[in-house]
Amino acid sequence: MRTPAGKECQYFYADYYRGRNHQECRLLGDASPALKWEPALCETCPAPEIQLANACQHMLLIPRLDRPFPFLRRQVRVSTSCPHSGRSDFDPHIGCGKCHELPFTLSGDVIEQDPAG
Ligand code: SF4
Repeated sequence: MRTPAGKECQYFYADYYRGRNHQECRLLGDASPALKWEPALCETCPAPEIQLANACQHMLLIPRLDRPFPFLRRQVRVSTSCPHSGRSDFDPHIGCGKCHELPFTLSGDVIEQDPAG
């Protein structure tokens, strides 16, 4: 669904049916302990760009709310974890590398490619 900031996000849920006006962020709401969401958090949240860059269904985003400076608004920050590979704290835009390994190996300055593929 499209967030109040105008970006598509799989974690955003809204119900406007028959006059309802319910909005929630299921990334923050499902955190343990749950984090309080407000629409302004979507403006600087990295999750929509991460979803565009990496569609891995195994990767978990672990949210936290940080205030970059004492006088600024809180912002969503995420760390990563993958229960499939057991790896954590990798770049969520790239992924942990287990499911999408490169089709060639690097040795020194030479790139060795598979002649068949
Ligand atoms: S805060 Fe981030 S994860 Fe939550 S709905 Fe907004 S953009 Fe999506």
